[in-house]
Amino acid sequence: MKSNNGYWLVLYPFIFIFSKEKNVLFYNSQTGNYIVNISSRIDRELKLLDNSYSIEITLDELNESVVSSLISRLINNRFGELVPRKSTLKKPISVIPQLIIDNYSLNTLSVDSFKKFSEFTELTLYINGKCSNNCANCGVSSKQHLWCFKQKGELSIERIVSFLSFIPFSGLIKLSIAGGDIFSYKHLETLCSYISNFSIAKRFVIHSLSIIKNANNLKWLFGSNNTIDVLFEPQCSVERFAKVSELLDSNQLFSRFILEVISIEDYTYAMELADRFQRSVEIVPTYIGTNREFFVDNIYLNMESILNNRLSMREIFAHQLINTNRFGRLILSADGNIYTSLNSEPVGTIESDIFSLVDEQLKKGSAWRSIRNNDICDKCLFQWLCPSPSEYNEVLDQPNMCDLRSLSIE
Ligand code: SF4
Repeated sequence: MKSNNGYWLVLYPFIFIFSKEKNVLFYNSQTGNYIVNISSRIDRELKLLDNSYSIEITLDELNESVVSSLISRLINNRFGELVPRKSTLKKPISVIPQLIIDNYSLNTLSVDSFKKFSEFTELTLYINGKCSNNCANCGVSSKQHLWCFKQKGELSIERIVSFLSFIPFSGLIKLSIAGGDIFSYKHLETLCSYISNFSIAKRFVIHSLSIIKNANNLKWLFGSNNTIDVLFEPQCSVERFAKVSELLDSNQLFSRFILEVISIEDYTYAMELADRFQRSVEIVPTYIGTNREFFVDNIYLNMESILNNRLSMREIFAHQLINTNRFGRLILSADGNIYTSLNSEPVGTIESDIFSLVDEQLKKGSAWRSIRNNDICDKCLFQWLCPSPSEYNEVLDQPNMCDLRSLSIE
């Protein structure tokens, strides 16, 4: 018969327990605090559904230094409580954080199908592929970022207008217009006027050189929900940066300056430029095939970078179910094909039934649902804290971009 002298160890419902092989990670999704330890009876039993995050701890166990040290850390970091067994006749219970998934109906006419359609929130529209600039990384950067790039084809304004007619019935919140050089699309002004009818965020993706060449037409892009994403190749000139700033400011256009970097020298240059002009910029690395070392040294994840990025319960669940980089996003290219990622095969065309297409993407196995379940990440303690797979994983042909050695906890 068990004595009543022990305790109940009860974890709070916002605590996650991740265990792989002999290690365990307790993660507090409210504070971002964590505890890594060698796996033991404590985490194994706490995780059993029938135990409801509450297990018995005997006085003998509390006298063991390994157990008492773990329990003190759990209590001191507000992961849970020790409740004396004497003080309660009933076992205290908590709730194990678990993902409960909606059972989407396949009936395309049901209310559920509209609910599914509202998951489609972001469309990037490549209206053309023509461009007279000659950026060194044009082809490679387009596989990593939704930026302008040269490609074959051009979408007629009639096809675009007909395709976009779904917008009022959808959950779309962001429409990006990209090309080649969108100013070489002869119906750009008409398109800008047409999309101004939709009260969603619009983003125009334009290379900095094209901004300067088309200074007189920048006024077409004005609108309260509009943002201009301006691209600068590595170590672009100070004069160009200054001229583009002046043009956008004088046209009262809201913009984001995106500075591409492929080396640490580019990064330093970009920071100096931002500092000199007191302009906030987004610095985006591109892999060009010869700068793997730059990625390994500066972009690859390590235990610190993963754990410093505090994640909520919702974000952790999202990592377990969807690809948070791609979910809800479609790309319509200038040749009329629709993609979820420019590194994969098309999932449809401009003529496809958009409801069915979205429905397909919600299913397991699609790019929207690609999660960290590859052979390497599946064995990693940080599997669900780590960001979802991205285009970088595709172009570097590596499912994990991390220093695995630093992740093993002995
Ligand atoms: S092994 Fe996978 S899950 Fe773990 S840190 Fe590396 S990339 Fe992330």
